[in-house]
Amino acid sequence: MAIDRKKCVLCGKCTEICLNDANELIGKEMTASQVMAEVMKDKIFYETSGGGLTVTGGEPSCQAAFSLELLTLAKDAGISSAIETCGIGARDFYEKAADLGASFLYDVKCINPVRHRILTGADNAQILSNLCYLMDRGMDLIIRLPMIPGCNDSDADIAALAAFLQEHKCRYRYAQIMPYHALGTGKSEKLGVSAAFVHDNATDAEKNRWQSLFASYGIDVKVSQ
Ligand code: SF4
Repeated sequence: MAIDRKKCVLCGKCTEICLNDANELIGKEMTASQVMAEVMKDKIFYETSGGGLTVTGGEPSCQAAFSLELLTLAKDAGISSAIETCGIGARDFYEKAADLGASFLYDVKCINPVRHRILTGADNAQILSNLCYLMDRGMDLIIRLPMIPGCNDSDADIAALAAFLQEHKCRYRYAQIMPYHALGTGKSEKLGVSAAFVHDNATDAEKNRWQSLFASYGIDVKVSQ
């Protein structure tokens, strides 16, 4: 089945009548209050586990007003909150999120600005500046290192990341490698678009090499599964 996405208005009627579940609607528009009402259903779980609300994406800073409203509602409800971010949002967003007491799961992909631009299409000056701002404020930070084999995992790239982490040691809770996985390929297929990037999942050997290289610079990093 092929869908002409220019004409589709996302009414969902085709998903209701198909006997083979060949198509499905994923996601729906909600207000921050509606999202919070869902979150509150698990309040007892948060109280016993110490967990909370994580605003993720996409990129929360791209929907700054919504994200900040959600963080405000969480704070008012006494639920701890965190943001997963690539760090490229406006400083104002991070200032306000920090004022609301959020923790940050903060991606650092590449330290070399020229290589960062080649790999992502964007400069990393704002990203590193926002990160240092949050460090200066003493915010709770987990630095995440998305590692893609053959892209940002050369010896030089890892040496630069390790030097950055060494320079800022004790200003973040821990650093964690996020190994590349190919799950996005399936999403692209479902959306009927060709994946912007295709690569095999990172292997155990690659993960071990990354972790060992960081360790050789005295940097202890976790590795996400
Ligand atoms: S969701 Fe299905 S039924 Fe509704 S417009 Fe799109 S293709 Fe047609």
